[in-house]
Amino acid sequence: MEFYNETVGQYPYEQYSVIQGGDGGMEYAMCTMITGDRNFGSLVGVTAHELAHSWFQFVLATNESKHEWMDEGFTSYISSEAMNYVMKENKTNPHAGSYRGYLFMANSGNEQPQTTHADRYATNRAYSINAYSKGSVFLAQLGYVIGPENLSKTLKRYYSDFKFKHPTPNDFIRSAEKVSGFELDWYLTDWTQTTNTIDYGIKAVENDGDNTKVTLERIGLMPMPIDLYVTYEDGSQELFYIPLRMMWGEKPNPFTALKRTVLEDWAWAYPTYTFEIKNGKKIKNMMIDATQRMADVNPDNNIYENK
Ligand SMILES: [Zn+2]
Repeated sequence: MEFYNETVGQYPYEQYSVIQGGDGGMEYAMCTMITGDRNFGSLVGVTAHELAHSWFQFVLATNESKHEWMDEGFTSYISSEAMNYVMKENKTNPHAGSYRGYLFMANSGNEQPQTTHADRYATNRAYSINAYSKGSVFLAQLGYVIGPENLSKTLKRYYSDFKFKHPTPNDFIRSAEKVSGFELDWYLTDWTQTTNTIDYGIKAVENDGDNTKVTLERIGLMPMPIDLYVTYEDGSQELFYIPLRMMWGEKPNPFTALKRTVLEDWAWAYPTYTFEIKNGKKIKNMMIDATQRMADVNPDNNIYENK
């Protein structure tokens, strides 16, 4: 509870009960039912998840039939963060399982948009992956788009502005816009109202004397800002950041220890983007989004190795 009070906002009541009964984990106002007879890690995991619902399902109380991802997804996101911290799991990406779930569905051809009414999905699996995995990736990936600090400020602002008010998806994205200063309607639209996927690739790397010409391509329909990590043959590293034009801004450098070069922004309509590295250094390898927070449906073309 302390973790959620700090990362989301203060829980308004002084009691929460964990009741052994019912089947599996099921959240209710100020309490949860859990089954007994399971190992400690599993008991903590289910309790962490159901408890987190008190903030999203109970206090914020979004419409569960229309925007199930705002409850199950946000609950999954924050409970994975809590488990990583409280149980000292030390995972580099506590949301890796959610990314796997989403990518499986996106590549299966059976994905439906998150705007589908919860009762109207073709399969239970399409519903649950949209609600839990894609909803959780919505937040984790937003951290890539606006920066992790802006993301944690956004969660707090969203909670304090909208508790007891039944917020809609637009209320959440407006909180993120106010905190970060970016325009983010495109993120909400593409991620939640379509099944557009993200696929960026390193198309060509050409040597031109001391300079290197790099061409990136956008294969998927959903646009994103790009963090490109370059390692030179002398072992030094540099981060190139290509802002997305329709965001109207630059996120803070996520790796303050790393030199970052901000390039000209990329308008989403152009399928390719070319720039030059003119420092005379030879490239060893490069990678789009080394943090792997961008849910790229084909990560194979995100890597270039100079052989
Ligand atoms: Zn849940």
